[in-house]
Amino acid sequence: MIDIHCHILPGVDDGAQTLTEAAAMAKQAEKEGIHTIIATPHHMNRKYINRKSEIVAKVMEVNVHLEREGINVTVLPGQEVRIYGELLQDYENGEISTLGGDSPYVLVEFPSGYVPKYAEQLLFDMQMKGLVPVVVHPERNQELIQDPDKLYNLVKNGAAAQITAASLTGYFGKKIQKFTEQLIEANLAHFIASDAHNTNKRPFKMLETLDRLEKEFGIDYVYYFQENAELAVSGQNIMKEPPQQIKKKKFLGLF
Ligand code: FE
Repeated sequence: MIDIHCHILPGVDDGAQTLTEAAAMAKQAEKEGIHTIIATPHHMNRKYINRKSEIVAKVMEVNVHLEREGINVTVLPGQEVRIYGELLQDYENGEISTLGGDSPYVLVEFPSGYVPKYAEQLLFDMQMKGLVPVVVHPERNQELIQDPDKLYNLVKNGAAAQITAASLTGYFGKKIQKFTEQLIEANLAHFIASDAHNTNKRPFKMLETLDRLEKEFGIDYVYYFQENAELAVSGQNIMKEPPQQIKKKKFLGLF
């Protein structure tokens, strides 16, 4: 299986800090059946800047180390880009890494509290340049939780969305877990990824999550998410079912 969102690159963000920690993460991933990890360090999130060239160099370093350690996991370049006004300009300048390095898919992160006003336009403009924006962990965004139609519109207009494994298994609380399930039901989730940062507090949890996914939604969903990760990394079109609007519960009984 391929994990498309992971902070495995050492010393570049709040993920792995050393090569040893990166190797420990890869080992954990290997145990869960992950053979390929897309390294997606934070970029432009006000704390970390990781341009494509630096990511590509680090990825090579990690792969050499993993091979030396006998860990059968391949790391590919990616990036988790905080949405910002000059994103497309910087893409033209070669600073933005897509998933795997040359697919059209870019992980785009919104601030956790809201969706910037210009997001819709930027995600559209990205597609005009041949890119496919993948909104990461929408289930953890306050504004999208309150107004899921905002995500529905983005997906209807061509964006994809990636939910975090640990959200479905409940590690971010019941509310986020419930919303994650609603996103899956409404065809508003196209990828499940670990967003792993380390081996203890933010581990992979992919096996546990896929197990839960199978029990709750059926094996077809497991295949669907795994296949989409493969399609994206190889630069092909992912499978998308028509998105639906999440119906808000009306608390009529209270009045
Ligand atoms: Fe992340």
